[in-house]
Amino acid sequence: MCRHAAWLGAPRALSTLIQDPGHGLLAQSYAPRRQRHGTVNADGFGMGWYDAARAEPVRYRRAIPMWADANLPALAQVARAGCLLGAVRCATVGMPVEESATAPFTEGRWLLSHNGRVERDAVRALADGAESACDSAWLAAAVFERLRTGPDLGEALAEVVAHAGEKDPGARLNLLACDGASIAATVWGDTLFVQRHQDGVVVASEPLDDLPGWQAVPDRSLLLASPEGVRVQPM
Ligand code: GLN
Repeated sequence: MCRHAAWLGAPRALSTLIQDPGHGLLAQSYAPRRQRHGTVNADGFGMGWYDAARAEPVRYRRAIPMWADANLPALAQVARAGCLLGAVRCATVGMPVEESATAPFTEGRWLLSHNGRVERDAVRALADGAESACDSAWLAAAVFERLRTGPDLGEALAEVVAHAGEKDPGARLNLLACDGASIAATVWGDTLFVQRHQDGVVVASEPLDDLPGWQAVPDRSLLLASPEGVRVQPM
């Protein structure tokens, strides 16, 4: 199981998800504290953020451990946005270790990450193709295909998780997606936490620090964060 984290609110640097907090994604890449499956997240990492210069998000991902990228800390310090997403990967047995299997996946305005695993046969029917044979890439393709036809982020995630979860009852399907103005996340077999701030919200697989305010989101729920606030509803 991988780890992911996102921010929605006043502009912040990506380092606030990665190396600034004591247990940010950098620490979680080698010493996650709440991970139920897998030990380290050394099979790749990625981050995505939004900039006025582009209609689509900027994405940076690599198939090496986060701690091995000496250029990352400075980049994460200056990459700032009101909507950020980062992920570190522990590849599921049998899945390829390659950049195209690494979150965040992206299409148009959307960024998506997956914690968990699913039988690929349970999602292949939902998309025409995926950029990698990795299960997460197929889930991302399925969500993007739906989003193209109109539903909002939360609806698209919920539909894909419901379908894949029915076909593969053992699947773990924690998805985290954003579009620059909102975040949607599912909790389906893995951990998810939310921390509300005065100027925004952090959504993360596990707390990034030991400060108060982290709330566990119950299993089988859909979290929606927008400038209006945070909502959690059962799935
Ligand atoms: N199954 C996905 C992969 O192989 C996600 C893995 C995970 O959550 N550890 O990348």
